[in-house]
Amino acid sequence: MFGGSFDPVHTGHLMLAEAALVRAGLDRVLFMPTYIQPFKRNVRTSSADDRIRMLALAIRGNPRFGISTVETDRDEVSYTILSLRALKEELAPEGVPVFIVGTDMFLMIEQWYSAAELLREFDLVVGVRPGGRQGEAEGQAARLRKKYGTRIDLIDNPPVEVSSTEIRAKIAAGESIRSLVPEEVRRFLLVREREGERRFAHTKRVIDLAVRMARRFGADEEKARLAALLHDLAKDPAGGAENNIRHGALAAEIARREFRVADADVLNAIRYHTTGRAGMSKLELIIFLADTVEPGRTYDSIDRLRGMCLEDLEKGALTVLIELKAYLQKNGFEAAADTEAAIAELREKAGLREKQEGK
Ligand code: ATP
Repeated sequence: MFGGSFDPVHTGHLMLAEAALVRAGLDRVLFMPTYIQPFKRNVRTSSADDRIRMLALAIRGNPRFGISTVETDRDEVSYTILSLRALKEELAPEGVPVFIVGTDMFLMIEQWYSAAELLREFDLVVGVRPGGRQGEAEGQAARLRKKYGTRIDLIDNPPVEVSSTEIRAKIAAGESIRSLVPEEVRRFLLVREREGERRFAHTKRVIDLAVRMARRFGADEEKARLAALLHDLAKDPAGGAENNIRHGALAAEIARREFRVADADVLNAIRYHTTGRAGMSKLELIIFLADTVEPGRTYDSIDRLRGMCLEDLEKGALTVLIELKAYLQKNGFEAAADTEAAIAELREKAGLREKQEGK
């Protein structure tokens, strides 16, 4: 079990986890984000939801890494010893948890809640953290082994000089965090910084729904996640109707230039999510619809529409596009040519389908 605030998870954490796995011969590493005091003064902390999302992005595709939410599930400060005991019960009789820490934390471990019990009941894997005073860590390990009988495995992990504090500072200063965190975490952080909490909450709901729809309709889940994350990059709440239509195309440009997205389907899903177009791919339909019916949307007829979108992408898209056109007309605007073309094409397809079904 590897505890930390992971705000955000970074390469130092991942390298330590990997080294612990290999050098200490562990089966799995469970990252356990700890609860953070919401009113910690002068520190802007991320929600547990964001920290878990970033961890999930960072460990995706690694079956030997997992996440434990025992501490974040309870909305209060919890203590490592209690979490370790809970995990011990869960793993028994096949497995036993050990606790992974960096040298900086290790040097302070006797100050933790119920430290003596923790050190008597659980073994430790201690990884080097640059600046964590390696020599002192060895002395400390010898002393604790003797005093509590703890098995302490001091591993020789590659030193990675990075901290979450440094990453947060760099983002605030507009500096690059490339290679300090996995690329997907970097994108998540940059979009969050750009959008602010309220707009980013919408983006996260679109991501969740788009991923769900991708699974359901057999589209590429990773592409859905990426397109949903980036779809509103250029949205300007003060930009009026013009920005409402154009922010898809603008966001696709930013995605290509600043986020280095090269996949044409992802870029088109971002580009056309405001207008639709004729010949939309499955991914394009999913992003367009997930944006329209995500659970935060509350307009009339949303339930019917949501149900329809989860049943049939094209039928859902046709209904949404017709409503979009009517809405624009009511407000004195013309629908974009792409929207007209999409409606015409989807109508024709629906007509053909009805004929085939003998209606
Ligand atoms: P912050 O800067 O917000 O205090 P942090 O980068 O220190 O965060 P935490 O989430 O507090 O990260 O750390 C969790 C665990 O990861 C601790 O055991 C810590 O020693 C270890 N750790 C953090 N950074 C590194 C690193 N660069 N190399 C090795 N271990 C690290």
